Amino acid sequence: MKMIENLPKTYNPKDFEERIYKFWNEERYFEANVNKEKEPFTIMMPPPNVTGNLHMGHALNNTIQDILIRWKRMEGYEALWLPGTDHASISTEAKVVEKLKKEGKSKEELGREKFLEAAWDWTREYGGNINNQLRKLGISCDWSKERFTLDEGLSNAVEEVFIRLYEKGLIYRGDRIINWCPNCKTAISDAEVDHEDSHGHFWHIKYPIKNSDDFIIIATTRPETMLGDLAIAVHPEDERYTNLIGKYAILPLVNREIPIVADEYVDMKFGTGAVKITPSHDPNDFEVGYRHNLGQCKIMNDDATINENGGKYEGLDRYEARERIVEDLDKEGYLLKIEDHENSVGHCERCKTVVEPIISKQWFVKMEPLAKPALEAYRNGELDFIPERFGKIYSHWLENIRDWCISRQLWWGHRLPVYYCRDCNEIMVSKEAPEKCSKCNSTNIYQDEDTLDTWFSSALWPFSTLGWPENTEELEYFYPTNVLVTGYDIIFFWIVRMVFSGIEQMGEVPFKDVFLTGLVRDEQGRKMSKSLGNGIDPLDVIDEYGADALRFTLITGNSPGNDMRFYMERVEANRNFANKLWNATRFVLMNLDENIISEKLNLENLEEEDRWILSRMNNVTKEITENLSKYEIGIAGQKLYDFIWDEYCDWYIEMVKPRLYGDNEESNKVAQKVLLIVLKDILKLLHPFMPFITEEIWSHLPENNEVLIVSSWPVYDEKYNFKESEERIIYIMKAIKGIRNARAEMNIAPSRKSKIIFVTKDEKVKSILEYGERYFINLAYAQDIEIEEDKEKIGDDNIQVVIDRAEIFLPLKDLIDFEKELERLEKEKDKLEGELKRVRGKLSNKGFVNKAPENIVEAERQKEVKYSDMMDKVLERIKYVKENM
Ligand SMILES: [Zn+2]
Ligand SMILES: [Zn+2]
Repeated sequence: MKMIENLPKTYNPKDFEERIYKFWNEERYFEANVNKEKEPFTIMMPPPNVTGNLHMGHALNNTIQDILIRWKRMEGYEALWLPGTDHASISTEAKVVEKLKKEGKSKEELGREKFLEAAWDWTREYGGNINNQLRKLGISCDWSKERFTLDEGLSNAVEEVFIRLYEKGLIYRGDRIINWCPNCKTAISDAEVDHEDSHGHFWHIKYPIKNSDDFIIIATTRPETMLGDLAIAVHPEDERYTNLIGKYAILPLVNREIPIVADEYVDMKFGTGAVKITPSHDPNDFEVGYRHNLGQCKIMNDDATINENGGKYEGLDRYEARERIVEDLDKEGYLLKIEDHENSVGHCERCKTVVEPIISKQWFVKMEPLAKPALEAYRNGELDFIPERFGKIYSHWLENIRDWCISRQLWWGHRLPVYYCRDCNEIMVSKEAPEKCSKCNSTNIYQDEDTLDTWFSSALWPFSTLGWPENTEELEYFYPTNVLVTGYDIIFFWIVRMVFSGIEQMGEVPFKDVFLTGLVRDEQGRKMSKSLGNGIDPLDVIDEYGADALRFTLITGNSPGNDMRFYMERVEANRNFANKLWNATRFVLMNLDENIISEKLNLENLEEEDRWILSRMNNVTKEITENLSKYEIGIAGQKLYDFIWDEYCDWYIEMVKPRLYGDNEESNKVAQKVLLIVLKDILKLLHPFMPFITEEIWSHLPENNEVLIVSSWPVYDEKYNFKESEERIIYIMKAIKGIRNARAEMNIAPSRKSKIIFVTKDEKVKSILEYGERYFINLAYAQDIEIEEDKEKIGDDNIQVVIDRAEIFLPLKDLIDFEKELERLEKEKDKLEGELKRVRGKLSNKGFVNKAPENIVEAERQKEVKYSDMMDKVLERIKYVKENM
């Protein structure tokens, strides 16, 4: 009695992807809870920007995390994957400002409170988008634990960390040169500055020496900053300037007297060996200024126009001022020359405006004491990077790190828990606003207007999401996490900061492994971008081909940390792969006898191909598990693809077909059983990669009570290791492939069977071939097979194929239809006769032979030779065919 096959005829992901996701979610299979009986496995999802939309980078990243989490869940771990979103202060604020602008309103007019209301409205309206989009990808994160970096708990963690670091002296307020974005009107951290090479100039300027006809020459790339010059520095050992040290120069255009100081920071070999010192607009000059007590002279406003310190240049934009100053220097004879110069210019990572180094009162995290243990953790092997090369980038950044500027002149974010006394300028740091000044008891107190860098809160993500600073059960159980999966472009922004924050607050690194993904580029290798219009929306791909095909495309064909190119043809190929598996399942189910499902497989009754496929399945299980534990996800995916497509569908199913249709009941039963066993393991191994199709097929298998997502991961079992059977079947497969190729080359129809003669002296090969007769009959169009020790007895008219330790002969008379061949040869003969008659007619015409140019006559003669030769061969072949008919 056959099973009624109930899988729909065609694979159509739209029929089930949404339904299955809803089912998993409602049955709470994604949730993870403290369970002391199980070992935890934890991944924290890198929180996408709350106002963002799903792009290919997210799709790649989240597919990888989902594969790891599904695999570990099936392996029996308490697998927590915690999702959430980031408030993304600078980019969200910019979007809200833009929206207000369209309504004719400004941030300042609205005031802080109203502006924040508008920002929350915006967040509520667009904030859910990305998470709904992520669901379509099939990701199995625990939505019940979803967090937002501005939610109450996380905000509390942020304040707590700020206060702890402040009290330890690791957070301070100070005047420092920071990167100022004149467009975003906020300080930004070093990590937010993109450096780009640009064509600039060196302006060489003469500074007269006071009370002398002498002058000193300096060169600068930013001449407008001369308005803020407070000194000229030379190296103390530079003999050219020894007599000038201690004297004064007169600042051109401004006529300020500035001292000439000696400082070892100056490079004698560079330029003239003399440099202008502008303490308020350059980090190195700031240090020199500090050492020589030069004071400050800031010459720019927040929008990069010149301020009141710039005299007649006040009000000009920085570049206008530059032009005017250069003109004036030239007019007054101070400009010596202009040189072309390639330099690296810092741009705001978000808005691309040229960043201005400017002195500013900001809040900083002292990095040195925090960077040290973060570096040690890497050197001790507590932290591993995949691929390894990123470890070097990580440590190089930490070795050269500067203090982290964390205050931002923005409103959307965590406001600094800092209060000032208006009467005595006392600084107080606390979660609640103090009622009175701790120093002078004044109640005239106000809170700092600034907010914290977005990355200050995401740096705490691995533990703040688990309830820190409370010592929750979850924190105890799930921390530290196992692996972080993220793009290599945020090593500095995020990875470094999570590591030192984790070590500082929790005493332990936040994750053991850092798996870095590359960028997803277009077919031509370009970055996908709005301006190029070459982006591919993952949702469109899912809509057309299903999430499984997209996921499989993203994780195969590239290796960790390397950029990949996205080809739609590959998505199509992977959809076809899913389709192949669908059809194979339909075949298995259609041939499945209900009664045998509950019967145990008797290993004694296996045939060679059963042992082979079980043994291969067993080894593939082992290899894929090993690949996954080394994060070789693409390799694991490719191996599975090959195993399913080639070995299971194209070979095993074809090999057992005669048994399914034959009369040997026992053999038939065993084949059905093995087909089902291997299919089940295939679905399990493929589940993390293609969760939807596998769960759907699984639900149609008979007597499956459990759900695939929580079924157990297959394990290697020595009893299914049949090495010899593998060798024998692989040998037979090679012979079959050789025969098929030879026939294909000659275009021989499958309907033409032939005798197959093997020639070998190898006893082992002989036994394999003898045993393999039925495979050659089924799969290599054999009438029968013959095994000989030498080829003397075999006639000449054969196609010959050489394989390892044997030769294969296919008699031509079996392969070729002699009647048809004779017909073809007769036609060929007629054609040649015609040609010969024409050529010979020409050559016997004296007029032609004597009058035509020599080379033309010669060409005709050669044609005659060629046609005669061909005719001889055709006649010979006709004779052979007639003899053999
Ligand atoms: Zn900017
Ligand atoms: Zn006070």
